[in-house]
Amino acid sequence: MRVELLTVGDELLLGDTVNGNAAWLGRRLADHGVEVTRSVVVGDETDVIVEAVTAALGRAGAVITTGGLGPTYDDLTRDALAKAAGVALVRDPALERRLHERAEAVGRALQPMAFRMAEVPEGAGLLRNSAGTAPGLRVELPGGVVYALPGVPFEMRTIMDEVVLPELAERAGLPAVERRTLRTAGVWESVVATRLAEVEAMDGVRLAYLPDPAEVKIRVTAAGPDAAGRLAAAEARIRELLGPVVYGVEDETLDRVVHRLLAERSATVAAAESLTGGLIGAELTAMPGSSATFAGGVVAYATELKARLLGVPEGLLAEHGAVHPDVAAAMAEGVRARLGATYGVGVTGVAGPEPQDGHPVGTVYIGVAGPGYSPIVVSPRLPVPGTGREIRAVIRRMTVVHALELLRR
Ligand code: ATP
Ligand code: MG
Repeated sequence: MRVELLTVGDELLLGDTVNGNAAWLGRRLADHGVEVTRSVVVGDETDVIVEAVTAALGRAGAVITTGGLGPTYDDLTRDALAKAAGVALVRDPALERRLHERAEAVGRALQPMAFRMAEVPEGAGLLRNSAGTAPGLRVELPGGVVYALPGVPFEMRTIMDEVVLPELAERAGLPAVERRTLRTAGVWESVVATRLAEVEAMDGVRLAYLPDPAEVKIRVTAAGPDAAGRLAAAEARIRELLGPVVYGVEDETLDRVVHRLLAERSATVAAAESLTGGLIGAELTAMPGSSATFAGGVVAYATELKARLLGVPEGLLAEHGAVHPDVAAAMAEGVRARLGATYGVGVTGVAGPEPQDGHPVGTVYIGVAGPGYSPIVVSPRLPVPGTGREIRAVIRRMTVVHALELLRR
């Protein structure tokens, strides 16, 4: 079955809101094997919405709209759907009761406008909205079905996942689909993809690569008979082929993994940062409960402070400057000793956009000191396209990821 998307709202046409709903819907439907053949944006104008819905149903079996279901007079999707279906808008008693209950609960009188939210095109079905008040609508027309969802992204997503996707899958006779995201750090996307070529060739298995600075998420989708078994086989093979590069699954971010590993050993870490300016500390304190594993940090940006605050030998700094592997190692050892942590991590390098002391942009040294590290230093090469702030942002982010990745090992 073909599906078309219709996102409604003047703010989308004007560029005030980025059309994240269309992007999310496209990806979600593709993941479930549903073919999206067209995506259209229209403003808040009844006749334009009617025309777009009617045209879409001339081509596709289902149309998913978002936006324009609220109570204000620029929310016109329900009016448009009634018009397209040639029916009246009628008040749904259950919805009306719910509006009254909600108003009472907060001690407010209902504005006449609010009752618009209780109106539905005659004969339309309601799509349960467990994330908000206004339900979505299902309107059956001669050409196919229209699913009308609210514009608010998390409400739209909830109704989509809980109601619309299962319904669409059944209507279209789609096979079951299983998905899992594996997270890797410190390896290029092209390297990951090359190593996984044989997994891509497995029956009913598809891989998608979602790159972030210094990280690649691999989304594994398995479909067809025994989708769960196929997914498990694909994951096992990926782990064999990539080894320890895979650090987590789903929403298990690198900072969580580091926190968990440190907590398991009752260990703490301290950070000495130069080019990242505190970003490693920010990352290591993002988790609730991070006080158990993060001791603290020192941002020593000026070269002289690397000596004064962290005890990096002045001779070393005089001879090599601040961008040197021994400086990263000394920063790691210095912050570990001074802050009394189990591990220390130290980073120094060139975030750009200009080279520094003859070192090209993206030269980064990361040192880790502590049990099992004697102190080790890695120097990821971080070539990045872009200019000014962009380059700096990406190199700083990559440095954070590489530093956490080194701590994890
Ligand atoms: P509500 O009941 O909250 O009024 P609605 O169905 O009327 O919902 P809109 O008023 O069109 O939805 O949009 C509500 C909010 O949702 C907008 O302010 C906007 O931030 C967001 N939004 C709407 N459409 C999109 C979209 N296509 N992509 C991303 N965000 C969107
Ligand atoms: Mg609205």
